[in-house]
Parts: sequence; structure tokens; C-alpha cells
Amino acid sequence: MHELAITENILALALEAAQKANARHITAIHLVIGDLSSFVDESVQFYFDLLSQGTIAEGAVLHFRREHAMATCRACGHRFQVNPPLVPICPNCGDYHLEVKGGQGLTVDSIEVSDNDETESRETNPQCE
Ligand SMILES: [Zn+2]
Repeated sequence: MHELAITENILALALEAAQKANARHITAIHLVIGDLSSFVDESVQFYFDLLSQGTIAEGAVLHFRREHAMATCRACGHRFQVNPPLVPICPNCGDYHLEVKGGQGLTVDSIEVSDNDETESRETNPQCE
């Protein structure tokens, strides 16, 4: 059920960004979803369709880009990409004391907006932090 909370977040960010851009419609939202997170694309789109009803984001299409997690070996310093669901072990020295970065959560990368009912759209970047 945590897709519901994150989707509310996505919608709020997208609406805020669209407002700043004086956009009248949000046509698409590009999201970055972590490889290690358990978010299901279809669930997020499902909740989005429900939550966006009656807002300028209604009908927007969500695009998902997977972000890989990177691990750094504490033993030898080797950096490599973590491929879930395997337990990460350093491919260089076999140590499993790893520092894993990225690949978690779900963030808004950019949104596509439209000023009118034409098909013309442009991109804008929401300020996440
Ligand atoms: Zn190592």
C-alpha cells in the first residue's frame, strides 16, 4: 500500500511544478524508480489515475526509468552495480561489507506540460528539494 503515499507525493510535486510554469495541463510525468525499491509501476499509475481526477494532471501518462544501485566495497574500494535480488558480494575480492547507494525510492525527474488544449508540450523540472 505504500504506493498510495508516494503517488500522493508525486502528484503534489507535479502540480506544484505545473503551477510555477503556469501550465494548464500536465501531459506526462517522468519518474525515476530505484532498482532496489519495491514500487510496482502499475500500482503507481493506478493510484495516480484515481488521485489526479479533477486536477490538471488528470490523464497524464507516467513514464518510469529504473535507477541502478551502486555499491562500494569497504574492503577493496571496488565500485560496481548491484543487481537485485542477489545478495551483493564484491566481485573483485568477495567481501560483503558493501556501501550501497541509490536504487531506493521514487522521485520525479521531469514533467511535460501543456498551456492549452493543443498537443504542444514542453518539459519543466520540479524542484524536489
Ligand atoms: Zn572488494
